[in-house]
Amino acid sequence: MAPEETPSKIAAMKNDAAERIIQVQVQPRPYAVIIQPDGLATLGHRLAEQVSPTRSLVVTDDFVGPLHAEKAVASLRDAGFDATLQTVPAGEATKSLESAARLYDALAEARLDRHSPMVAVGGGVVGDLTGFVAATWLRGIPFVQCPTTLEADVDASVGGKTGLNHPSGKNRVGAFYQPLFVLIDTATLSSLSVRDFKAGLAESIKHAVIADAGFFEWHERHADQIMSLDLDALGEMVERNVAIKANVVARDEREVSGHRALLNFGHTAGHAIETAMARRHEPWRHGEAIAVGIVAAAEISVLAGKLDRGSADRIIALIDRVGLPTHAPLASSRDELLNLMQADKKAAAGRIRFVLADDIGHAQLYDHIDPDWIDMALDRILR
Ligand code: NAD
Repeated sequence: MAPEETPSKIAAMKNDAAERIIQVQVQPRPYAVIIQPDGLATLGHRLAEQVSPTRSLVVTDDFVGPLHAEKAVASLRDAGFDATLQTVPAGEATKSLESAARLYDALAEARLDRHSPMVAVGGGVVGDLTGFVAATWLRGIPFVQCPTTLEADVDASVGGKTGLNHPSGKNRVGAFYQPLFVLIDTATLSSLSVRDFKAGLAESIKHAVIADAGFFEWHERHADQIMSLDLDALGEMVERNVAIKANVVARDEREVSGHRALLNFGHTAGHAIETAMARRHEPWRHGEAIAVGIVAAAEISVLAGKLDRGSADRIIALIDRVGLPTHAPLASSRDELLNLMQADKKAAAGRIRFVLADDIGHAQLYDHIDPDWIDMALDRILR
């Protein structure tokens, strides 16, 4: 299928109305992640259970707005909220201080006080931006995440990392700030492009590799159902991802013990590829870059003697099977990628750090990565 095609099949899928709820056990306030097809229609009454109906600002992007955000606004108004919709341009460039400044203006204009909630309806870009603005307006106002991409369903909306990009790198400006709750309406995936859908699968594969061998096998067994957007398979996949992420976040909310850093599997090379492609004005989806980053991390895991060749090949084969890239067209950009990896905020004292897989289902953060291994991994992933 062409990347722009919409997977219309999902719209015709039977509606698995079952609601799945996972608690994220962070202190002092654990919160729920609710997964429910058509969940956006329940936003207003769910929010009213936690916040007295008041003014609220819903943030979306210009793509998602007409498709899904209006439903969220209607649900809030039905529940008595005075909801204002603010639309930002779709795309990674929106994760900027300039966009944040425009949202502060909108908050002032809509006269939100410290009890008034913000609601993010969109992908990871809208979620990261809205979360950051909510964390910093009046030193923190309540906010709700309503993710609409697979990427945001399985990863970005859960865990409280909010952030903006800076010319020096991705997510340089940010805050840890947990939402009141996360409401995942899996029916919103019906309008997502196939390209964006596949990009989200990269994070799902990442979670399986670092934390759950059984879930990795599940991907291998269910790849066809996932790709044909079977709603039951999607519901289970999202739930298992959220459970993995919630568990990691509960153990290490602020990336102190190193446990949360495991979620960066594939990100050292992945972020460098994402930045390099954006500089060439051929932006890749975050998940596409992470897919190639996972291949690099798997190769280095083998070179470091941590992972057997057969397991690395299974990881790479799964990425390939779901139609994600295993190479990046950056063969002439080795030095640039190395510089970007060194400048990565996860690097320690200029040393490039990698999360490596010890096995499928288990990973660890390693500081001492032989530069030759990185060179060999780049040979493998660059074309
Ligand atoms: P995105 O928000 O840019 O969404 C991708 C595209 O899909 C956009 O054009 C958007 O308009 C469109 N879209 C969104 N929902 C749609 C729908 N239901 N139907 C049709 N189109 C839809 O990108 P993303 O992949 O969701 O997220 C990537 C961002 O998330 C990156 O900035 C990344 O850094 C961030 N992220 C954050 C975390 C975290 O923990 N905070 C984790 C992973 C990724």
